[in-house]
Amino acid sequence: MSSVMSSSLTGVGMTSQRTRNRLISLLKKNHIKNDKVLNVMSEMPRHLFVDEALSSRAYENISLPIGHGQTISQPYMVALMTELLLEGSHVNKILEVGTGSGYQTAILSKLVPTVYSVERIKPLLNRAREKFRQLRLNNILTSYSDGGWGWPNKAPFDAIIVTAAPETLPASLLGQLADGGKLIIPMGKKGEQELFLFHRLGDKYHKKTIEKVSFVPLLKGKID
Ligand code: SAH
Repeated sequence: MSSVMSSSLTGVGMTSQRTRNRLISLLKKNHIKNDKVLNVMSEMPRHLFVDEALSSRAYENISLPIGHGQTISQPYMVALMTELLLEGSHVNKILEVGTGSGYQTAILSKLVPTVYSVERIKPLLNRAREKFRQLRLNNILTSYSDGGWGWPNKAPFDAIIVTAAPETLPASLLGQLADGGKLIIPMGKKGEQELFLFHRLGDKYHKKTIEKVSFVPLLKGKID
């Protein structure tokens, strides 16, 4: 690895380990408990997933613009959704709908053996793919498609995470869960969204409401 690359990974000043540790303390205060999740988040260079002009804000607990009207998710939300999916189950294979910056995908790739991720905006997906190469995250498979349909020919998944909010549950997603699998998804109209956790046990799906959230909308079709 070149020294330029390693210093950009390690970070300085507002991207340094000290700044990252402050974010981890805040996540702990907000009741994120899974040490594996916290460790991975303290090591992941979130500043590489945002525009350079925003890198000094990369370790604040906020979502940030990534272009095309989309945002990189708030670190607390990434931690919460990841923790809920991993809690009490062994996840071998996960599907993410909405790659966006690739930050959530990268976090998952350090915790789950195989990560599938779909994105409907081509330039965002290409940028994320470049990050995965740069960081040598070789267990991520991506697809340029409308993830409202999931990724049927790679199903079933032990977990599905949706990082954009539909108004109602896309029917195709539940059917792609393995028995015992979990789906975490924000749903509802702008300003009225809530995060839901579905747990499949045999032919039954248990639904739990987690908390109020604010995500960009899940949209149909693809953009070149
Ligand atoms: N996990 C991402 C979140 C990005 S915002 C991150 O932390 O960076 C949500 C993303 O979902 C956007 O990139 C948006 O283009 C994408 N998205 C919205 N509807 C989608 C759909 N139907 N299929 C695939 N991706 C979708």
